[in-house]
Amino acid sequence: MNAPKSISKPNPYTIHFLWRDGIGSTIKLEVLRKECPCAVCKGETIAGKVVAFPSMQMFTPGMYELKELTQVGNYAVAAVWGDNHDSGIYDWAYLRSVCDKNSLTDEQVEKIAEAAEQKKIISRN
Ligand SMILES: [Zn+2]
Repeated sequence: MNAPKSISKPNPYTIHFLWRDGIGSTIKLEVLRKECPCAVCKGETIAGKVVAFPSMQMFTPGMYELKELTQVGNYAVAAVWGDNHDSGIYDWAYLRSVCDKNSLTDEQVEKIAEAAEQKKIISRN
């Protein structure tokens, strides 16, 4: 699996990936966080056996805010979240499977963008 052509954040709640086969996927940041592949979030498996169970994901302020996404080598990206959780490394194949399962329709993206815009207007006052 190759790196996506581009990664962008159309609004504060979603992230958009444009893949090299021309597929574009927009998913909620909340989903990306919930699918964090690190051992703390998903448990650790060695040789097919679960050796550490995932801790309960409790809601912490900022946990669905993506602070930073940095490329790791040419195989993955590492995410830093608003609650400073930074151990998740998403390789391209994993990211693509999360996208394929959770991709939003254009209509859903539109609704989320509208809601984000309204929030902005309110917080400006
Ligand atoms: Zn995690």
